[in-house]
Amino acid sequence: MLSIDFEDWHQLVHRRLGFADWDRSHAALERQTATLLELLDELDARATFFLLGMTVANHRELVAEIVRRGHEPACHGYAHARVYEQAPEEFRADIERGAGEIESAPGRRPVAYRAPAFSINRRTPWAYEELADAGFRYDSSQYDTPRVPDRLGDIPTKPYRLGRLWELPVAGGGSYWRVLPPRGLRELAVLYFHPYEFGPGLRAELPAGASFKQRLAAAKVVAWRNAGRGLVESRLRRVAQTHRLVSYDQAYGDLDRLYGTRTRTLSPQGVLV
Ligand SMILES: [Zn+2]
Repeated sequence: MLSIDFEDWHQLVHRRLGFADWDRSHAALERQTATLLELLDELDARATFFLLGMTVANHRELVAEIVRRGHEPACHGYAHARVYEQAPEEFRADIERGAGEIESAPGRRPVAYRAPAFSINRRTPWAYEELADAGFRYDSSQYDTPRVPDRLGDIPTKPYRLGRLWELPVAGGGSYWRVLPPRGLRELAVLYFHPYEFGPGLRAELPAGASFKQRLAAAKVVAWRNAGRGLVESRLRRVAQTHRLVSYDQAYGDLDRLYGTRTRTLSPQGVLV
């Protein structure tokens, strides 16, 4: 199962660096998305796109194109705020606003959600109830990587039921790959990528008034993001030779048959049991 976190790298980085016009639309996302959509067509792959609301607001035509090409629109929240930094009512408002943007862009209500930076952790077990109450049926926010603080721990590699939701945990993406199902086995595994990992190398595209400190900080993120980016496309091509790359909605119908007996619950301490 192929998933893309559809967000505008420049929007996020420029906000972090404190530029007044961080929210403007950046053309790089159009180039990256075009490259990615061509590659997916070439590999005969479909993907689930976790669309960030504040990026959708700037690029409705890209979202419409993604849906037109047969990919599934899903929700990545609105403002890319970490779930564990929000109160339940703030989280509710953020997913509702994000889902609303998607619904009005291509006109389809998303049923799958992924938290920004995989930020549903031990401090936020309530997030799953909020998601189910908001009409989501699939969550894909669990990733057993050291980069997630206070993660739920011992996250399974295969899909399972979690309360009223299906959890589709992430197996790998970018530079960190945990497992892939062996060739020939009928198993599902989630991979994730970002548009900025595709297309020409990233440039910071700073406004003229950027300070030396901001330029230095931007140069660092750009260098870090550009290192190894060539590997991403070649890895995806290699996986496509041995596995079928599908969107989540192409696999929803198989979940019950393959994983219907797999159930976990969250303890009051936010630990998966
Ligand atoms: Zn994200």
